[in-house]
Amino acid sequence: MATFYVIGTPIGNLEDITLRALRILGEVDLILCEDTRVTRKLLDRHNIKTKCESYHAHTTDSKMEKILDMIGGVGEDGAKDGAHVPKNIALVSDAGTPGISDPGSHLVGLIRARFADEIARGEIKIESVPGPSAVTAALSIAGIECSQFTFLGFLPHKKGRETLFKEITAMTSGAEKSATARPALFYESPHRIMKTLESLAGHLQPEQKIVIVRELTKIYEEVVRGTPAEVSVFFEKNAEKIRGEFVVIIEVVA
Ligand code: SAM
Repeated sequence: MATFYVIGTPIGNLEDITLRALRILGEVDLILCEDTRVTRKLLDRHNIKTKCESYHAHTTDSKMEKILDMIGGVGEDGAKDGAHVPKNIALVSDAGTPGISDPGSHLVGLIRARFADEIARGEIKIESVPGPSAVTAALSIAGIECSQFTFLGFLPHKKGRETLFKEITAMTSGAEKSATARPALFYESPHRIMKTLESLAGHLQPEQKIVIVRELTKIYEEVVRGTPAEVSVFFEKNAEKIRGEFVVIIEVVA
């Protein structure tokens, strides 16, 4: 039996990894990493020596085939299941949960399609080993009602961007009349945050607040709340804080 583990890893603080994740990372035959150098730092910290190979958004089809063959227990020579063929494989990304604005879901989809019969017979398993994600970590300290929310990943840079700001305004407004109004959140880079705040100021309701959560689990973790204009002023006055990693949450408004 082969198992493909999808493992959540820290989003900053290298201690944020579960005991189960550490055990499995130490036991598998191979770890597929978005960037082997990033994952190696985590593994070194926990004294794990498992072999790593890269898997990312630009992984070629032929490499993808090789990965699928390994999972199916087929060696380089096409022979079924040599003892040397890695069977238990872990997938990690640079930070957080694979598949959440990160590579991973495509490969998991391919495994499910290629090995549907083996999975149904229990010969191949895909297991989640949950860990941190910036989405849930940000919501957990934002202090807003978030039993429901809309996660938008990264916003498009050009095409569809304006339309999306209109949609964000629509989905977060009218809370008094609409049961579907809910907070929205997305990931943002330090290079674009000021421009994004400007766009939000132009689209949201005048009194509508946002929450910026930056550098989660790191030394300079910080939460800034206010209207987009207020938050812009904060970052203009504290330009040294326009760095690191950002989650932007749009609160609902009546
Ligand atoms: N897979 C990751 C997850 O589960 O959260 C997300 C990876 S995505 C490529 C990277 C983006 O996630 C960053 O640009 C930032 O918006 C957000 N992010 C990741 N780590 C973060 C942190 N420590 N603090 C705030 N945002 C973070």
